[in-house]
Amino acid sequence: LFVTFEGGDGAGKTTQSTLLQEWLERSGRTVVRTREPGGTEVGVLVRDIVLHHRGDIAPRAEALLYAADRAHHIATVVRPALDRGDTVIQDRYLDSSVAYQGAGRVLGRDEVRDLSLWATEGLLPDLTVLLDLAPRVARGRLDADDKPFDRLEAEREGFHVRVRTEFLALAEAEPDRFLVLDATRPAADLADAVRARVAGMLPD
Ligand code: C5P
Ligand code: MG
Repeated sequence: LFVTFEGGDGAGKTTQSTLLQEWLERSGRTVVRTREPGGTEVGVLVRDIVLHHRGDIAPRAEALLYAADRAHHIATVVRPALDRGDTVIQDRYLDSSVAYQGAGRVLGRDEVRDLSLWATEGLLPDLTVLLDLAPRVARGRLDADDKPFDRLEAEREGFHVRVRTEFLALAEAEPDRFLVLDATRPAADLADAVRARVAGMLPD
């Protein structure tokens, strides 16, 4: 089973990934918890480039770097785990690229999606949990935690509004794959909703 968490910074992806992982492990399942960008040794190097050169990297180069990170990560970590029968819980996947590079950088939904599908030989998650949060609320949360919004605060609010709108459009286009949750709900409620959906998908 391949589960991804999507949403903007500060939406609670890490918290919900952890709660799902703990719940699955309590029932004896083997979970591989991973993330993009930066889920491999090579990926950490790519993450360093994309996050430290944000704002001065050509949008297509940025998209290709995320795709390179993804290609290596899927081939060396995620596919082997799925082949072993493990459950993979992943923080961000191709929907992040469609939202950030496709909509945020205005490269186009289909182009960026096709690039990701080429990079991963067509691997789609069984379930994608979208933690939906207004960018203004996210900024307030990150400020309260003393975490920089969008790391370098390099992006304007319009960028994040485009990203959020695209995530919601992606979810609407693939309702069977997505579970959309209002990220302002209490973490425990969100975890219950995720468990209810995952419970119905688990192999015996
Ligand atoms: O903590 P996290 O790994 O989610 O941070 C990655 C950063 O990279 C985020 O700030 C997000 O805005 C950005 N990102 C992006 N395009 C992607 C994935 C992440 O711009 N495809
Ligand atoms: Mg996070």
